[in-house]
Amino acid sequence: MYTTTEIQRRLVRFAVAGVLLLPLWGFPVGAAATDGRTGDAASRQASMVRATAVAIDARKDTARLTFTLTAGVEAKAFLLERPDRVIVDLPEVNFQLPKNAGRPPAGKGHFIGSFRFGLFAPERSRVVIDLREPALVGRVETVRTATGAELVIELNKATRAAYRKAALRPMVDSGDGLPGQQPDTPKAVTHGPKNEALPLVVIDPGHGGIDPGAQTGDGVLEKDVVFAFAQRLRDMLEASGRYRVMMTRTTDTFIALGARTRVARQAGADLFISIHADTLGSGGGVRGATIYTGSDLATDLESARLADKENLADQIAGVEATEDPDEIVGILADLTKRETRTFSNSFAGNVIDSFKGTVLLNKNPHRSAGFRVLKAPDVPSVLVELGYLSSAKDAALLVSDEWQKNAANALNEAISRYFSQRSPTEKAGGVAFSP
Ligand SMILES: [Zn+2]
Repeated sequence: MYTTTEIQRRLVRFAVAGVLLLPLWGFPVGAAATDGRTGDAASRQASMVRATAVAIDARKDTARLTFTLTAGVEAKAFLLERPDRVIVDLPEVNFQLPKNAGRPPAGKGHFIGSFRFGLFAPERSRVVIDLREPALVGRVETVRTATGAELVIELNKATRAAYRKAALRPMVDSGDGLPGQQPDTPKAVTHGPKNEALPLVVIDPGHGGIDPGAQTGDGVLEKDVVFAFAQRLRDMLEASGRYRVMMTRTTDTFIALGARTRVARQAGADLFISIHADTLGSGGGVRGATIYTGSDLATDLESARLADKENLADQIAGVEATEDPDEIVGILADLTKRETRTFSNSFAGNVIDSFKGTVLLNKNPHRSAGFRVLKAPDVPSVLVELGYLSSAKDAALLVSDEWQKNAANALNEAISRYFSQRSPTEKAGGVAFSP
């Protein structure tokens, strides 16, 4: 927690340290500007500033990233440590760039890792540059050109001490809209019947916006694959008329991990299903779907590594990670958690049964590890890894219409079986224990 004066002091110190936290000059983008609340989605898209190209010039001590824009924007830069990242905040920009544009530049001897760009919160875009070695922001500027503008980000190599002095400390709870702050909890968007008696299923498409998740060699992004799948599943569940359905994100935007579970809990979800499709470092041979449940102890090393990787999502987007407070404490909490875990495990079993014969399963299809999105103490939760984008065969299936339809169908069946096994009044959050 920071007081306003402390924040001001920090900002002053920060500005003195020579890092740019200044709104740089911008110029009007045309009458419609980027106000999406007044126009429809299409006209908003059309009026938005677009980034149409990016070039990177990485040398030993300096690096320059240049985004070609259709008009100028205001940009603010700041640094985060552990890992070292340069964050550049912008108004919403429509990035029309190749999906693999953010790969680390070729050649050795420079300090630039990969970089990401995308929507960070409503009407806010962000560029995050991973640093291999400490560097300070020398210049962030939009320069007018004949056809629009260029956003120039210049970085200069620095010592660790200088970097540390300049990097902002975590300010997640400041509530002042400062950099590094977690975006607001997304608005709950429900679909399907409004009947409160129907079970509420929350579908959580992994990653989004600035956090692309895993990707294949030819630029297929996990965030897109899982979003397409989640939409399909949502439509299917809605059409059945048997559930209320909610998505943690309905667009390509970043949602912090804690916000995903918070939304589910606040809405009184009966089931939380997080959808992912990751890569494995150990080669392209490993295939198949895996259903994960949450646990403090991982079943195996691979699962532990995967959970660690997934738990980095906030960091990737330039948000400082915080532990979510456990809202229920005491004996009842333990009973609730245990009960929730039992339901999560039984749903994982349902999914595996439904996938058999339709969706290829990993050789150990039910695993558990400490995924942050599976930490709701009172909502049965699973994380479904649909397959591995690191396997060419899996990747081809994951993007195919036919496979997606069959897999969503199987998941729909599993959900139906799960709820038919539970009595209508039974809920993990309010389990009655017989004496
Ligand atoms: Zn993922």
